[in-house]
Amino acid sequence: MRFKQDFFEQLTGFYSQVYPQPISNPHWLGWSCDAAALIGLNKPNDALLMQLSAHHAAEGASYYAQVYSGHQFGGYTPRLGDGRSIILGEAIGPDHAWDVALKGGGPTPYSRMGDGRAVMRSAVREFLISEALAALNVPTSRALAVIGSDLPVWREGQETAAITVRLAKSHIRFGHFEYFSYTEKGSNAKLKQLVDFTITQHFPHLSTDNAGYIQWFNEVVAATAKMIAHWQSIGFAHGVMNTDNMSILGDSFDFGPFAFLDTFKEDFICNHSDHEGRYAFGQQPGVGFWNLQRLAQALTPLIASDDLIQALNQYQRHLVEHYLVLMRQKLGLAEFEYTQASSLNAAAKAEQQKQDLHLVDEFTTLLETNQLDYTNSLRRIGELDVSSQKSSLRDDMLDVAKFDEWFARYQLRVGKVADVSAWQQNRNAVNPKYILRNYLAQQAIVAIDEQGDNSKLEQLHQLLRQPFNEHPTMEDFAQRPPEWGQGLIMSCSS
Ligand code: AMP
Ligand code: MG
Ligand code: MG
Repeated sequence: MRFKQDFFEQLTGFYSQVYPQPISNPHWLGWSCDAAALIGLNKPNDALLMQLSAHHAAEGASYYAQVYSGHQFGGYTPRLGDGRSIILGEAIGPDHAWDVALKGGGPTPYSRMGDGRAVMRSAVREFLISEALAALNVPTSRALAVIGSDLPVWREGQETAAITVRLAKSHIRFGHFEYFSYTEKGSNAKLKQLVDFTITQHFPHLSTDNAGYIQWFNEVVAATAKMIAHWQSIGFAHGVMNTDNMSILGDSFDFGPFAFLDTFKEDFICNHSDHEGRYAFGQQPGVGFWNLQRLAQALTPLIASDDLIQALNQYQRHLVEHYLVLMRQKLGLAEFEYTQASSLNAAAKAEQQKQDLHLVDEFTTLLETNQLDYTNSLRRIGELDVSSQKSSLRDDMLDVAKFDEWFARYQLRVGKVADVSAWQQNRNAVNPKYILRNYLAQQAIVAIDEQGDNSKLEQLHQLLRQPFNEHPTMEDFAQRPPEWGQGLIMSCSS
C-alpha cells in the first residue's frame, strides 16, 4: 500500500492519533481481489496480514480516529467519533485514493463504554455486503478483507474478535459537519475548513466560495437521493440510518443489522433495536430527507437558508427520477422518445413518469399481497414473453385475477418486443438472481464459528461477485429462506 495523508496533514484537530491493538492468532477469513485492485494490491501475503491485524505498522500509515457527532434515532449525540475504526491514511490506487480503515482495530478516545472491537459475525457481514452492493452497482464503501482471530470479546456471551479492512473514498459523514457546526462557538473556521477540504478532495470541479458551496450541497442532496433510490430498487434495508452513518459522498456506509427483503414488505424492519420502525424499508426515502435537513441545519453558518431549502426541494425529484430509471430497466419499460416541442415534452414526460410509477407501485403491491419474494419475482421478468398470457410470474400469484389486470396494462406499456431473448437478457442484467440473504450470511458465519471453516464464506463471496449470472450448481442460494432463517434477529451489539 502506498499512502498519502491529506486528511491527517490538513485537518489537525479533526481526529486523535491512536494505534490499533493487535488481535491474537490472526488469519484471513476473506479477501476481495476486486477491492484489492482498487488500491493496486494483488494477492494477500503474510506481511500484509501482520500489518492489517495490527502486529506490525504499515509503512506510511498515520493511524487516527476521526471525531464526529450525529443524530441517532432522532436524538442528537454531541460527540461520537470512530470508537472502533482506525484509519491508516489514503491508499493511492490506479483511479483514485481510498481511506484504509481497520474496523475493530481496538479502543480509541471515542470508544466510550465500548471495547473498540468487532465480533466475527458482524465483520463477516460487513465484508460480504460491501462487496455484494458493489457488484450490484450500488454506490458503497468497500471491504478489502476480513481477518479472524482467537481474541475473546464479550457481547451477550463470549465471541471472537475480527477486523474488517474497510476502503472508503472518504470517511466524512454528515455527523462531521454537525460536530464542527455545534461545538465551535462563535467561529466557523473549522466547519469551513472541513467543507473546503471535502470540496477540494471529492468535488474538485467546484470552487470553495459561496457559489461552490451551494452547488456542493445540491450535489450531496442528489447523491444521497440516488443511493436511496438504489436501495429501494434492490430491496435493501440499511437498518441504522443515523446521520453519523451517512457518507457525504452518498456511498452506502457503516453496515450493521442490514437486510434484503425476502417477501416484499414496505414496513419491513431489520434492526432488532428499532422498535418504532424508524428505519423500516419504506421509511428510507423520508429518512434520507430528514438526514439531509440535519446536514443543512449544520451548514447554515456557511450557506444561506434559502439556498439550502432550494436544494432540499430537489431531493424528491432526484429520488423519484433515479428510482424510475432503475425500475424501468428492471421491468423493461423503455424510455419514450419525445419529438414534439419542448413544453409538450415536459408535460408528456411528467405524465409518463406518473403512470410508470403507478405501474411499479402496483407491481410491488401485488408482491406484498401475494407474499412473494421481491428479488425472485423481479428475476422472473427475465423469463417473460410479454406477448404471452402465461408466465412463471403469473403461476406464483395467489390472486391471479388481480395480476391479470395489472399484466394487461403492463403488456400495453411494454409494447411489442422485437427480440424477446435480447429483452430477457437485458432484464437479467439488472435483476440479480443472487443477493446476500441473511440466512446465507448466517450459514457462512456458523461454519467459521463452529468448524473454523471459511470455505462457505469464500463460496458466497464469489457468488455475490456475479449476482446477475446463472450459477447452475448454486441454485439453492437463490431460494427464499428456510423456516429457521426467516426473520433472523440482527442486533446492534456487533
Ligand atoms: P454504529 O451504530 O455502529 O454506527 O456505532 C455508533 C457509535 O458507536 C460509533 O461512534 C461507533 O464507533 C461506536 N461503537 C460501536 N461499537 C463499538 C465498540 N464495540 N467499541 C467502541 N465503540 C463502538
Ligand atoms: Mg457508525
Ligand atoms: Mg458501525
